[in-house]
Amino acid sequence: MPSKPSVKPLKFMSRDGIDYEFPVYEDYVPAAIYLRISQDRTGDGDGVTRQLEDCVKYADLHRLTVIEVIEENDTSAYVAPHREDGVKPRKPKRPGFERLKAIATSGEIHAVVAWATDRLWRSVRDLDQLINIVETTPHGFTIHAVHGGIIGLGDANGQTVARILGAVAQGEVNIKAKRQARAHEQAFDRGKFPGGRVPFGYRLGEKPGELVLHEDRAEVLRDIADGIINDGWTITRATRFIREELPKRCGKMKPVALRGILTGPTVAGKRYYLPVAQKRSDPEAKGTWGPAGWEPVFDEVTWQLLRKALATTPRGRPTRPSLLGGLLLCAYCGSAMSYSTRTYKCTVTSGCGRISVSTPTVEAVVTDFITTLLTAQETQEFLKRMLNIGDGPPGTDDINIDAELEKIARKRRELTEAYDDEVLTMAELRHSLDRLKAKEQALLTKREENVEAALEWERSAMAFQAYEDLLDATDDDAIKKKNMIFRALLDGIVVSPREKNSCKFDTERLNFRLAGTSPYIPLNDREDISDDGVDWWTEDPGDLASHPSPRELVQAGVVKEPVPRRKNRKAARLINGAVEGNKNGATAKTAS
Ligand SMILES: [Zn+2]
Repeated sequence: MPSKPSVKPLKFMSRDGIDYEFPVYEDYVPAAIYLRISQDRTGDGDGVTRQLEDCVKYADLHRLTVIEVIEENDTSAYVAPHREDGVKPRKPKRPGFERLKAIATSGEIHAVVAWATDRLWRSVRDLDQLINIVETTPHGFTIHAVHGGIIGLGDANGQTVARILGAVAQGEVNIKAKRQARAHEQAFDRGKFPGGRVPFGYRLGEKPGELVLHEDRAEVLRDIADGIINDGWTITRATRFIREELPKRCGKMKPVALRGILTGPTVAGKRYYLPVAQKRSDPEAKGTWGPAGWEPVFDEVTWQLLRKALATTPRGRPTRPSLLGGLLLCAYCGSAMSYSTRTYKCTVTSGCGRISVSTPTVEAVVTDFITTLLTAQETQEFLKRMLNIGDGPPGTDDINIDAELEKIARKRRELTEAYDDEVLTMAELRHSLDRLKAKEQALLTKREENVEAALEWERSAMAFQAYEDLLDATDDDAIKKKNMIFRALLDGIVVSPREKNSCKFDTERLNFRLAGTSPYIPLNDREDISDDGVDWWTEDPGDLASHPSPRELVQAGVVKEPVPRRKNRKAARLINGAVEGNKNGATAKTAS
């Protein structure tokens, strides 16, 4: 441990103008505070001020000498400092994280304090980079998460724990299901239908890759849009309607599927696309909407109104959490399989619809696998050590503090009485009272710190308990937590198709992909995947909120105000039916 150098305390002014001066401690452990403003989160950790204050308190409590405060703003432009040789460095993508890596690698810091681990690493790749620094530099560094504890990344266990903690303690993990990547040539020919199940409301045309309207079905969709926009239909009501109208094709249509069809880009003659290269470099990259080569079912304004309406209609019964939600990936198309009590399956709305697997069976097999991984003696011990779980919460000297405070109160009364009896002068009384007050203040501060420490202990203990209790628990909350742990440990589990004529479940069908392994390339895309390729999310409704509103589109002159379309479909069909009936009747008569 380096001795206290002749460094000056760091002075730092926060963005809301609060001045900080960080003390240099005798046992010099140089540290950085890393703050990150995240765009897409809500909650306590969002405010940078809050993050900073918590980190400052933490550093103080652990006697870390803060030598730098790094602020990362995901959205703002950052001007990198000029180097000494005057060469302006290239602007890094996440300057704060780059800076952190640099000073950790050079050994300037031995610790980093962050509000929570998900502030520090956004992805497995980030975590791997940090692990790499720890492993390749002689001194290494420790990670202090105000909410999550001290995490060493020096060995496999610590790394596993880092991943578990990320999930359990923060209740959030940012591993997204790997999406499918499609063929190279389609990147240059976006207008064409990329293949797979024909979207609802369309049929294949005569030319290859041509998609044309299925007029009858498109017509039903338009009626539904009309009902939803003008008559306030719920999605349930709309589903009933489509089931009645098209019993053969849609007798079993689910509301969620119908919502997907109505809000997806296909019916608006659009595609959602995102170049694979872009997706690889930034896992959170959002794609853009592009025109497709087929005719839309709805005009732009109707579609936007529909999306608006459906974004606000209540969604019916809440979905139950599933143990393996987001984890099971279709081997063919790579999309996440959806859950029901009986099966997990690749659905046609989000994937290719070719693979399904029995829910109880696959859940049992996966649970077994994870349990083996997590209950390994060494993992357990490491976890306990990491979380600092002793026999009880710290700060149990609260009783003593209360007694002390009581004593001070008594003393104060005695002093006042002594003054009344003229044993003490005014000056003496004031002096004594001041001393008592300082002592009292110190005790109160100590008690406050104890409360903080006890809370921290409780959090850690809870996280650990959660992990231990989970094994047998089956309530919704437990399932959610288990799912988070699984997703922290695994990037996914690829499910292969069932062998023909085999009825017993073959565990070989599951390919466990541990966190940090390279992304899975779906079977469908093995041949033609390319960096210039396009990642098609044909049914991804995208971000409803970020899209321009119909009014904005009209105002911008992009589209014209729609003429309200009200047609009595039933009447129309009755007339048509009658006409057909007559025709048939007439033919029959003529024939006889
Ligand atoms: Zn699939």
